[in-house]
Amino acid sequence: MANHQKIIIAIDGFAATGKSSIAKRLSNSLNYIHIDSGSMYRAATLFALRLDSKNNLNPKKIIQSLSEIKIEFKTIEDGQLIFLNNENVSSEIRKPHVTNQVSKLAKIPELRSYLVKLQKEFGRDKGIIMDGRDIGTIVFPEAECKFFLVGNVEVRAKRRYFEQRNKDNKETYEKVLKSLINRDKLDTDRISSPLVKAEDAVKIDVSDLTIDDVYNRMWSHIKKKLNKI
Ligand code: C5P
Repeated sequence: MANHQKIIIAIDGFAATGKSSIAKRLSNSLNYIHIDSGSMYRAATLFALRLDSKNNLNPKKIIQSLSEIKIEFKTIEDGQLIFLNNENVSSEIRKPHVTNQVSKLAKIPELRSYLVKLQKEFGRDKGIIMDGRDIGTIVFPEAECKFFLVGNVEVRAKRRYFEQRNKDNKETYEKVLKSLINRDKLDTDRISSPLVKAEDAVKIDVSDLTIDDVYNRMWSHIKKKLNKI
């Protein structure tokens, strides 16, 4: 889409609703930056786990070390890499030892403020699609387009299970389901920036939709918005 004023697109929602894949496709169509904010929470979790030789999370120690967390993204042909203090951690942050701890860490308000500040900087020049849990509510409340993705937890667990089936760190379906239920609860119940729909977000239930269906719905909303600017 040529010559449109650049906007901010916020995609929030539950884990495994396809937020990042769709955000990536939209960013290619629009030639926008895509930031997966969940990967920043995951990188911070990996950093925090490494602070303790027994891999326990110690909130006090994490808060004291926040300024040592340097996160950068690098776009490559088939996606994006994330670097934690110059180390490519793109694969490690998807492993169960990180996935199963990340929502506990994401409850820490000081860590959230630190990451939200970085996220806001990424969006300074607009032309950005960011996905996460609090993008439309806290990071970019001013975003011109907001989406909120929900979906049946068993459908989401099946999708996640099939996605990771061929990787070496695969988990059973039951484990994937349990981890999603647990993360949904922690993300929704936390006091600091809980997962909630922004009032002006378009809600999409992805349970019976393909990724293409969801993409097309979002794309038509975005086009309408861009045509009004
Ligand atoms: O999106 P993804 O599932 O990779 O996110 C991992 C976790 O990071 C989420 O379950 C949530 O606890 C946390 N998160 C968050 N706020 C965001 C993005 C992710 O709290 N904006």
